Amino acid sequence: MRLDKNTRSKYQLVIGLEVHVQLQSQSKIFAADLNQYGGEPNTHISPITLAHPGTLPLLNKRVVEYAIKMGLACNCEITQQMYFDRKNYFYPDLPKGYQITQDKTPICQSGRVPIRPNQPALRPEDRSTEVLIHHIHLEEDAGKLMHLDGEPESQVDYNRAGTPLIEIVTEPCMHYPEEAYAVLTEIRKLVRYLDICDGNMEEGSMRCDANVSVKLNEATELGRKVEVKNMNSIRNVQRAIEHEWERQILLIEQGETVVSETRTFDATTGTTAAMRYKEELNDYRYFPEPDLSPMYVSDEWLAQIQANMPQLPYELERKFAEQYGLPEHDLDVLTDTKEVAVFYDTFCQYTAYHKAAANWVMGPIKSFLNDRGTSITEFPLSFEQLSELTELVASDRVSFAAASQKIFPALLNTPQASPTQVAEQLNLFQESNTDSLQTLVNEVIADFPDKVVAYQKGKKGLLGMFMGEVMKRSQGKANPKIANELLRKALN
Ligand code: ADP
Ligand code: MG
Repeated sequence: MRLDKNTRSKYQLVIGLEVHVQLQSQSKIFAADLNQYGGEPNTHISPITLAHPGTLPLLNKRVVEYAIKMGLACNCEITQQMYFDRKNYFYPDLPKGYQITQDKTPICQSGRVPIRPNQPALRPEDRSTEVLIHHIHLEEDAGKLMHLDGEPESQVDYNRAGTPLIEIVTEPCMHYPEEAYAVLTEIRKLVRYLDICDGNMEEGSMRCDANVSVKLNEATELGRKVEVKNMNSIRNVQRAIEHEWERQILLIEQGETVVSETRTFDATTGTTAAMRYKEELNDYRYFPEPDLSPMYVSDEWLAQIQANMPQLPYELERKFAEQYGLPEHDLDVLTDTKEVAVFYDTFCQYTAYHKAAANWVMGPIKSFLNDRGTSITEFPLSFEQLSELTELVASDRVSFAAASQKIFPALLNTPQASPTQVAEQLNLFQESNTDSLQTLVNEVIADFPDKVVAYQKGKKGLLGMFMGEVMKRSQGKANPKIANELLRKALN
């Protein structure tokens, strides 16, 4: 059975995300072992991480700073007095038999992250513009079980045990898969801009569990939720939610109920399958961690962290939209990394042609960097050269094609040169002189009398052929705008 549009629209989809982010501190959250991805199994472990008797954890201050930065970026309130809790359960990847986490006093509470979801089916005014954050807490990661193909036993690698994590928990406030996609993209940008995590979902430094339920539109209570795991990309989180949306409605429509369970996503089929029942009863026996003293974040420290916050992607997006008038597509491309965003923002200090500057960064400059495999921070031309180049095009003195295909490569070969001089040397200035262009136009019209008649009888597509002829005779230097105007006038 497939779901038709009318049936789907009787229900509201509800999504809440739990996002785990590994913090890239030098050492682990409670011990001095290296906090590093990979390595020979069981080499980055110490008796503290393994909780041998007589050892005591010691909190890594850098980790707390990173969590606070993320909290500030998510517009959260920062908890200044807090403690850690033990979450007790048995699993072979958990060396202590408990996980140190924060249950009652998460380090950040009630925030919001701005989003711009791409929901073409919705009117712009109906699209949500932010996702509410319930809280962010600190905790340690577990080790990793390795199930080798064809082997009867599994192996355990504790290198990851004790890796610092923040868990970002959203409110169940999203109603479209695109919103989950948008907030995850923003969270990944935030952790990268803050330099606290590389946000790599394939390698698992960022992981997302999606909680999904559906309810009839008029129902006041939320439906029973399913938790979906094992999505290794943001796109796959969206696909998993799309699948659950349909699966749950179909179940209900067939008179069955959705069970609370954990499901795993299969990227090949785009479907989810049951993994285990979720305990309805909370049996983790949380209690305050007795081996760590309560933690206090002073006003001074908080102010210091606040003062050192970088510009955030959504702040730069707002600035680029409001001050530079960029369309949405450009905002996405130009704020994708902090380096590109800062480069573009600086470029705009040198030129008044902000949209043209965006095109230069997204086009020729990006291609050059891709070809060379270098970062924009290494880009060899100065902003003075770039703004001069932009102005040559914007003032119609040189065509964009000539500027990007001739002047730009020439400058990259001789980085000290001036764009205007190069344009002169290469003879690239456009013919904007109306008189001489008019002469060319007259010539072309005189040379193709049959085509002129055909054009006047309605074959308007011939204009391109006339334009091509004018461009050819001007050796590519005719100002296309002016040539086009003169041609139309002459033909009509
Ligand atoms: P649990 O106690 O099962 O862990 P929580 O209330 O702590 O559930 O919420 C965990 C996550 O699930 C949060 O991201 C929250 O937004 C989301 N969530 C809670 N209830 C629902 C629901 N009915 N539908 C979808 N998501 C939900
Ligand atoms: Mg919970």
